[in-house]
Amino acid sequence: MASKKRRREERPTIHPKNKYAENPPDFALLASLYPSFEPFVFYSRDGRPRINWTDFNATRELTRILLLHDHGLNWWIPDGQLCPTVPNRSNYIHWIEDLLSSDIIPKSDIRGSNVRGFDIGTGANCIYPLLGASLLGWSFVGSDVTDVALESAEKNIKSNPQISELIEIRKVESCHNTSSSKEPHNGEPALVESKLDVSGHTDEEAEPLPLPSYDQSTAANKSYHGPPILSGVVRDGEKFDFCMCNPPFFETMEDAGLNPKTSCGGTPEEMVCPGGERAFISRIIEDSVELKQTFRWYTSMVGRKLNLKFLISKLREVGVTIVKTTEFVQGQTSRWGLAWSFVPPARKIVSPHVAEKKNLSFMLEGVQRQFSAVDVLHSIESFFCSSGASCKLNASLFTIDITALKDHCNAILKKNVVNHVDEASSIQHLQEASNSSSCLDTPNSLRFHVSVFQQIPGTLLMKGSLHRDNVLPGLFSSIFQQLEEDLRYKFCR
Ligand code: SAH
Repeated sequence: MASKKRRREERPTIHPKNKYAENPPDFALLASLYPSFEPFVFYSRDGRPRINWTDFNATRELTRILLLHDHGLNWWIPDGQLCPTVPNRSNYIHWIEDLLSSDIIPKSDIRGSNVRGFDIGTGANCIYPLLGASLLGWSFVGSDVTDVALESAEKNIKSNPQISELIEIRKVESCHNTSSSKEPHNGEPALVESKLDVSGHTDEEAEPLPLPSYDQSTAANKSYHGPPILSGVVRDGEKFDFCMCNPPFFETMEDAGLNPKTSCGGTPEEMVCPGGERAFISRIIEDSVELKQTFRWYTSMVGRKLNLKFLISKLREVGVTIVKTTEFVQGQTSRWGLAWSFVPPARKIVSPHVAEKKNLSFMLEGVQRQFSAVDVLHSIESFFCSSGASCKLNASLFTIDITALKDHCNAILKKNVVNHVDEASSIQHLQEASNSSSCLDTPNSLRFHVSVFQQIPGTLLMKGSLHRDNVLPGLFSSIFQQLEEDLRYKFCR
């Protein structure tokens, strides 16, 4: 328990790129600069400037002046509409920035107008397009269903001519009955947004998750039957780098309740949908299966960890190539970011001309609680044996010696490709690997040694060393990379 507590305390609560990471909003300074904000600021006994978070007018004014002061944005929302906190919402933008710039899938140009996002349910506040466009020059389609959201979002864009060209607001017609989900649903309440402090983001993924199955006992059989979300809203031929969503988290306003410590506003249309967030995000997943690579990354916020687990298991069932999660720490509470993709993972093509590394390693982080180093060791063994390679496992040293013939290597590459990634790229990969070894005569064997080291609970280090008399250059790193993907897929959340 103590270590868990420590881990939590050590977690950064704000993304390092967030404008407020180093400099949280200074209420006293802002009050001195903006007379309209001044009446909302008071000083507690320790002399610290504060605002009353239960006062909607105070929170709205804070958001207004933060957007103005730090982002040069003119902004307003009608009374009672959901009022976003700028530092929190910026964290989600920066997490997407990280996803786009990572090499998990082939990179896109993440700066400038080339990046195109889709904000599902942009709301009256239109916060994500405004932040994404002003911080990073991204362009957006922001969708919504209610007239008040659509009108207010349009107003917010028109008030900012410097970025208005980058943002299109799209009305979702709610006439269709798009019910198709067969998924069970649990409509327990999500977390109410806390505005008690400048909250943030951690780079870590969510807590270890159980096996990809969900608890039937908590899953009532409910599905989303609201207006379309992506399918039917995205137009033929359109392509996006990502979609994002702060979904209506709740099934009923009673579920939403009101956090007595905050006043974020929020109308039933913003807070509630049939089936709550679980059903809403399940529908996004179903749409993503249809739309596949129309989006490079699909993402959503998730309010409840139980729902996160359910959604991850659903993603595994539908065969996405990648799932990423993050935790957004908000005061005393957490929300999660969930991202997935159908784009084949980026692969480093091994050139036969490049001298082969004899020693390779990778870290397996986020190994789910129920798995131990022994499970991983056995999985490595079966990974190679099932392709015909010979394996000598030493359970006390946590090592395996592997001898694989060229055909075995090709079988490994082929098999793994079918499991995890798109065929086109894998075939190319396989050809690269085969070509690199085709000049060689028999005996065609790749001999190497894999060791498993437990670093800390949930983190394993894998080391691979190529045998001196290896005669299949160019295959070791391909095979080792496949092993990494296989283990990640099986053991990590
Ligand atoms: N993005 C804003 C608002 C989130 S509230 C923010 O982060 O503060 C959720 C929004 O989703 C509401 O504005 C609601 O009208 C909208 N919404 C609900 N169902 C939708 C659908 N099917 N398509 C698009 N928007 C939808």
